[in-house]
Amino acid sequence: CGVFGVYAPGEDVARLAGFGLQALQHRGQESAGIAVGDGETLRCHKDVGLVTQVFDDAVMEELGGLLAVGHVRYSTSGAASSRDAAQPHLSTIDAESIALVHNGTLLGTEALRASLEAEGAVFAAGTDSEVAAHVIARAVRRAGSVREGIRQAMDVLEGAYAMILATPRALYAFRDPHGIRPLCIGRLPEGGWVVSSETCGLDIAGAAYVRDVEPAEVVRLGREGLVAESGRAAPRRASCIFEYVYFARPDSIIDGQSVYQARRAMGAILSAEAPVQADAVIGVPDSGTPAAVGYAEASGIPYAFGIVKNHYVGRTFIQPTQAMRERGITLKLNPLPSVIAGKRLVVIDDSIVRGSTSRQLVSMLYEAGAAEVHLRIVSPEVRWPCFYGIDTATRDQLLAAGRTTEEMRRWIGCDSLAFISLEGLHRAVGGARHQGWCEACFTGSYPVPRPL
Ligand code: SF4
Ligand code: MG
Repeated sequence: CGVFGVYAPGEDVARLAGFGLQALQHRGQESAGIAVGDGETLRCHKDVGLVTQVFDDAVMEELGGLLAVGHVRYSTSGAASSRDAAQPHLSTIDAESIALVHNGTLLGTEALRASLEAEGAVFAAGTDSEVAAHVIARAVRRAGSVREGIRQAMDVLEGAYAMILATPRALYAFRDPHGIRPLCIGRLPEGGWVVSSETCGLDIAGAAYVRDVEPAEVVRLGREGLVAESGRAAPRRASCIFEYVYFARPDSIIDGQSVYQARRAMGAILSAEAPVQADAVIGVPDSGTPAAVGYAEASGIPYAFGIVKNHYVGRTFIQPTQAMRERGITLKLNPLPSVIAGKRLVVIDDSIVRGSTSRQLVSMLYEAGAAEVHLRIVSPEVRWPCFYGIDTATRDQLLAAGRTTEEMRRWIGCDSLAFISLEGLHRAVGGARHQGWCEACFTGSYPVPRPL
């Protein structure tokens, strides 16, 4: 998912949030929502669909205020695409509202939900985020203070969360103690504040990057400006390394490391780790393209524009069923025979999850006349599911789980197959301000104990 918040009295905060969410649309396409605070109340509009489908001018006109918080969703927990599962989640506490948006996945919410239901809570969506909204609302009521309530809720919530909570007057941005999912802060030229999953959301709002929210930190943005309070961070930080591989936009900067430059370095490093004689390097758009540029530069094999992507079809991975996903791939990617025919190709992609993309793409490339297809993947083998907000499938669906590279190569049907080493990936993201990564989907070593 993607989360975005803006505090900017005097500006059109709903439209700014709309732009921010459009910049984060790659992080989720199932639903979109914005809540606006005007100092006294919060109003919310949300629905299934893309940002541009959920919000038109008429809706935006009605959402005036001094702050806004927004969300784009792709489901890793609960019902796939229902309006109830769309965020923000609004709760009322003693006649005052709060709105919550969440990126990540919480662990152990079944037990929390059961105990809240026993106390009379009613759940509409069935998602972990909805449970978090209840937990936080109750903690705020009990504590009589938003900040203190968030603190107490953070002691109870487990797993991955980058959240923004809005009251009618202020925003609170906070992140789990491992800092698994990203969240950053920017400043508007007129003095307002922006919070975004990625810096590309700051760029579109015209905000200058200030810093990332730290693990376990609670940052309040309001009339008093930025007021930060650090919390008890985990002994070892565990920021998702897969953001650099696939999820984040290449024009974002996470913890000081450009995503584009990291991908380019992944390609260069892989060209040294797994060289091959070939006539052209092609990237699988969009996520494989920067790495293909890096592979081509480092290997001296010319980069070629060999696959056209239809940008009006959503991210195939995010389609919730396998049948939709497979149809999505042919709708989305089309090889260019005039570039490919007769050539020995190095084909660069960011990751293999179920392998359906690679398998179909390889056969499309041979059909378009490729002489050889050497598949190079700039992430290590994805062998373990993610429990922290990226839907990398269950273990039995993962192509690399329990298979050798040769078995995978045969199933995909390419001439050769190689993955970057974990050490190589570490070097590619070496410019980040910290080197504390979650890489559980590659190693099976989970920073937060997984559910039984
Ligand atoms: Fe990211 Fe993988 Fe960790 Fe999930 S398991 S948070 S995708 S590194
Ligand atoms: Mg891809």
